[in-house]
Amino acid sequence: MVQLRNLLAILAAAGLLVACGSSDKSYFETEGLRAPEGSCSVKPSRIGQASKIDNIDEGNGCEVRNAWSIQSIGPVAFSQPATVNCGMAEPLREWMEGTVQPSAQRSFGERVVSVDVAASYACRPRNNVRGAKMSEHGYGNAIDIAAFTLESGRKVTVLEGWRGASSERNFLRTVHDNACGEFHTVLGPNSDSSHRDHLHLDLQNRKSGNSYCR
Ligand SMILES: [Zn+2]
Repeated sequence: MVQLRNLLAILAAAGLLVACGSSDKSYFETEGLRAPEGSCSVKPSRIGQASKIDNIDEGNGCEVRNAWSIQSIGPVAFSQPATVNCGMAEPLREWMEGTVQPSAQRSFGERVVSVDVAASYACRPRNNVRGAKMSEHGYGNAIDIAAFTLESGRKVTVLEGWRGASSERNFLRTVHDNACGEFHTVLGPNSDSSHRDHLHLDLQNRKSGNSYCR
């Protein structure tokens, strides 16, 4: 791992490492961070509609070992299947059950039935910025959620709800803030303009062990 990291750093410094998934060629260095292997022992069927899929390795640092495709977490459907490292599954389930549903009951008196998944696995540097470090999306360690749909059909979007009605503001801030317990990085509209319309949740393993939530 250390040798791979050094090699990637050297390649990145030499400008030889090209990120995929971007029309503008980008260079990135990777910290080689992945969800812990031991976090993948849960069965997909315990999570919802989920299944193991082939491992992903694009040969440039973008890689998902123990890749899963998740279409729902319990009763909450995803707008599109999310490709993630299996280590993301259990934190997502705990966040949905422990925070999202109770918060929706408190704010709206109803349950969340689906979420809009804006992105999951994607081979790209952070915020699509050339020269930035590789995004955790490149390891399948991240998911972007743009909206929550309630039983009644009402859709609460991050873009409008973050500064919208007080019930939506309270709900979105609560699910954002409490995600910080399950995930290591949580970014929303208060972090920067590229997160104005979604919540980014990831499991980046920092050497410090600290979380970063804004
Ligand atoms: Zn993201």
